[in-house]
Amino acid sequence: AALPAGTAAPPPATHLFSDPAEIETLRGNLLSWYDRCKRDLPWRTLAATEPDADRRAYAVWVSEIMLQQTQVATVIDYYNRWMQKWPTLQTLAQASLEEVNELWAGLGYYSRGKRLQEAARKVVSELAGRMPRTAEDLQKLLPGVGRYTAGAIASISYGQATGVVDGNVIRVLCRLRCIGADSSSPAVIDRLWDMANALVDRSRPGDFNQALMELGATVCVPKAPLCGECPVKQHCRAQRRVEKELAFASRKLFGKPSPVPDVEDCGAGGCPLCPPATEPWDSSLGVTNFPRKAAKKQPRAARTATCVVERRGCHGALEYLIVQRPSSGLLAGLWEFPSLPLAQGLQEEKQREALADHLRAWTGWPVVAGGLRFIGEVIHIFSHIHQTYVVYSFSLDGDVTLDPALSPSRWVTAEEFHTSAVSTAMKKV
Ligand code: SF4
Repeated sequence: AALPAGTAAPPPATHLFSDPAEIETLRGNLLSWYDRCKRDLPWRTLAATEPDADRRAYAVWVSEIMLQQTQVATVIDYYNRWMQKWPTLQTLAQASLEEVNELWAGLGYYSRGKRLQEAARKVVSELAGRMPRTAEDLQKLLPGVGRYTAGAIASISYGQATGVVDGNVIRVLCRLRCIGADSSSPAVIDRLWDMANALVDRSRPGDFNQALMELGATVCVPKAPLCGECPVKQHCRAQRRVEKELAFASRKLFGKPSPVPDVEDCGAGGCPLCPPATEPWDSSLGVTNFPRKAAKKQPRAARTATCVVERRGCHGALEYLIVQRPSSGLLAGLWEFPSLPLAQGLQEEKQREALADHLRAWTGWPVVAGGLRFIGEVIHIFSHIHQTYVVYSFSLDGDVTLDPALSPSRWVTAEEFHTSAVSTAMKKV
């Protein structure tokens, strides 16, 4: 029968989990693997042992925000320090942004710390310190909490049977069900959410979600997945396809006639979940044919002149001048050496002059281009910017007081510099 107008056709069965018995087995296989192999992580321990629901949700929330864009190994130490300093929403709400930035320094994507703190303040002031109790409310009421984070908090802390879709889950599900259409497109993402919600184990949703993500992080990895060790291999259609092709190739090698393997994608012409006709299955890639993404935009190139201004402090130790960045935009509120964005293609001499002008106008010192010493270049890749810092140094004699009406600035020793809220890029500089 024709579908009512506005209703999308259901995807072909190849791309679905439609057999309840299969779903049951998959859940069981995945969970027993997780029980045996899961990594010991501090937020997992807290989620499993903390009796208070608000504290538990807060502990999971902090971990989820830190884990966005940052590797587990890096996060562990930051997480432990954070939870030691601010074990509850209330303590975080009372912290200053400067303290948050200092603790976050080096973790990248700095606005995450700031938003986490703003949201904690909101829970304390507007929700009487009580975390929303469902994924829907978490997403609706907490700034910076998207669908994924809300699902993770609700399933792990409250046991709500709701799925999650992150990069790891996308990869695993696309492979399990041979989804080769652009995995960043809204149509595919919607299907993956449906699938995650259908698959999630009803009695252990938090563990199931973590297991699926853990599988993507440790077994079903992007480049060389360990299919031989995979607990859900029997449910994996990408793996089945590889096996079929291998069987065909070996029969051919031994001269045995055999039917050409079924290389049609799912039997439905123009299927919205299959790889596009222009990029068919590539045998040399095996299961890593999935997932596929539309080509990424190249990061934009940018150059910045930066000057390490130093002086002898009153106790004889070298001190360095740092200034605070504006409170919005890239690296908001963090401290850096005085810096100046440069136009592309500027010659060295011109760069130096521009930087000297900037320092002169800003500090009132008679800085001349020839007085700046070129040190070298430092490259740092932000998510969307390929940034080159052209580094100079400048020594100051005597004491200087900076005008506090200009951007906030201060003198720090090398040691103080490293504990200040400075970015990784500046540490490299
Ligand atoms: Fe991933 Fe391989 Fe497991 Fe399939 S069998 S889910 S491709 S690790």
